[in-house]
Amino acid sequence: MWPAACAACGVAGRVLCPRCALDVAAQADLRWHSPTPPPPGFPPTLTWGGYAGALRRIVVAHKDEERTDLEPVLAALLGDVVEAVIDGLDDPVLVPMPSSPASRRTRGREPLLDITRRIRTIRPVRIAPVLRIVRRVRDQAGLDHRERRANLAGSMGLVRGAERVLAGAEVVLVDDVVTTGATLAEARRALHTEGLRGPRSVRAGVICATARRM
Ligand SMILES: [Zn+2]
Repeated sequence: MWPAACAACGVAGRVLCPRCALDVAAQADLRWHSPTPPPPGFPPTLTWGGYAGALRRIVVAHKDEERTDLEPVLAALLGDVVEAVIDGLDDPVLVPMPSSPASRRTRGREPLLDITRRIRTIRPVRIAPVLRIVRRVRDQAGLDHRERRANLAGSMGLVRGAERVLAGAEVVLVDDVVTTGATLAEARRALHTEGLRGPRSVRAGVICATARRM
């Protein structure tokens, strides 16, 4: 049974009440986004909207409050971004950003991977979770852009067999929130692991971008 309350404001009824649905829609601002300053290696990144209001609340509720009933709502937004970002690519492959082993254990699921997989009910697209976290990182909250970059450097690697998927591929990294861009930059670095034939191109599609400058 799903909790019969709006995930953003708590009012009884649907997963997203009409007022909060309007507030989510008000965040829509599909555009190429670059953090200020962009970290070295930051890929071209398309974002659906701003990390604010009801949109921010449902992203958090889905990730940290077990509101898995938000999956279709967030998949629709991510689906819009993906559709726009893969425009013109021959055979794109979506690579969701990996969660840490610790967070997988705590949550018992991978919220971003779940949303990404659900996109396929809207449109057929290849998904390859080839990235993995190879060493522990500190909690990013409260770190500025330089600290985040140092914290993340070398933190990602590839799963076994990734080269088969990545060689010459047009990769679209997917994520829910972009802040300083350090995570996407690290992911792009990991895709080009030395000694392996890497992807032909790397872009990213992300649900929301924080307005914060760091
Ligand atoms: Zn509401």
